[in-house]
Amino acid sequence: MRKPAILGGMPLFPEGLPFARPPLPSFDKVVERLRPVYETGMITNSLLVRELEEKVSSYFGVAQTVAVSCCTSGLLLCVQALCDGFAAAVRSQPRVVLPSFTFSATGHAVVWNGGFPVFAECNPETYQLDPEDVATRLDGAGLLIGTHVAGAPCDTEALEGLAKQAGIPFLLDAAHAFGACARGRRVASFGNAEVFSMSPTKIVISGEGGLITTDDENLATHLRAARDYGNTGDYNPAFAGLNARMSELHAAVALASFDELKEHLDRRVFLAESYRDGLAELAGVRSQRLLDDTTSTYKDYSVTINAEEFGVSRSFVATALRAEGIDTRCYFSPPLHQQKCYSPYNPGKLAVTEKLSAEVLSLPIWRDMKNEDAEKVISALWSIHQDREEIEAACAV
Ligand SMILES: *Cc1c(COP(=O)(O)O)cnc(C)c1O
Repeated sequence: MRKPAILGGMPLFPEGLPFARPPLPSFDKVVERLRPVYETGMITNSLLVRELEEKVSSYFGVAQTVAVSCCTSGLLLCVQALCDGFAAAVRSQPRVVLPSFTFSATGHAVVWNGGFPVFAECNPETYQLDPEDVATRLDGAGLLIGTHVAGAPCDTEALEGLAKQAGIPFLLDAAHAFGACARGRRVASFGNAEVFSMSPTKIVISGEGGLITTDDENLATHLRAARDYGNTGDYNPAFAGLNARMSELHAAVALASFDELKEHLDRRVFLAESYRDGLAELAGVRSQRLLDDTTSTYKDYSVTINAEEFGVSRSFVATALRAEGIDTRCYFSPPLHQQKCYSPYNPGKLAVTEKLSAEVLSLPIWRDMKNEDAEKVISALWSIHQDREEIEAACAV
């Protein structure tokens, strides 16, 4: 076997292998779409945004899609709407149950609404919000939020059941999950609403952008006003909305990117399967497990590194991969309940989340990555394990 770069071997990627590279649609296709609309003079929240909303609704099989400026603003407006029952001037301080193992924006949407985030545990193998733990934290809650972590659907069935039992709405952060399926349906139609991101590292991309999907017509009507300052046409808003509109320029990129969705997802699944096969027998390395009857977009391909079994700890593995030119991320570390801005909401120890967060490592995966690139990342991990003792010693210095 080859010698790892960290021990003086030749790096596998002298030019570097990036963690992600946005699959931008061709500029010509974007301009072709944009030009006629641009010439009308309506450059925000107009024809292309409507076209995008309609195409996305029909792809997902949902009644309504509301395009917004980004996923964060979409989450913010959904939390506002769902906690207040679409009302009103006087705001409650809702308790909102959500995962700690998610991206910070999920929590920010709660805090920006004056809510109190109640962080719940995740499952150590699927990384998804743990319904049993959620059940113990729902007392007094006004909203439940789930995240489809890394593009793999969370346990929508159990979580929908819990929300229903508690009589509260259920919102999904679907930032990673454009094109994922669960229980024979596309992600987009679970809970009261789902919110997607189109920022550059996500699946369908627009530069900046978000999409809210829902089967609730009243909620969609409310959100269309909410993204436009709360204005319903008479400039006398009933609640404080935002400017969270999507511009036509972004919608043009989104439409061109959406056209390439199938080939994009197929590539990700192919690369993910290479990783899954190539790492299946490697001691101490475990790939994220999908729940039964689900498919993932593989927005991220994440594994856990068990330091004892693998012989090298997660952070040294990342260092050794970097020496090979391979860029990785530790999504999500630290988890929300350990981030500085959430210290006022400390739920105490979340042992499963903290362990996962210390062991998780996301590997490069992007549409135009070559098959042999994934093979080389796999062989890098095998050789790090092979030379584990020397590597631990070298990194520890
Ligand atoms: C990227 C991301 C967001 C934020 O999306 P923006 O469109 O950048 O606002 C929210 N939640 C999760 C889980 C994300 O990964």
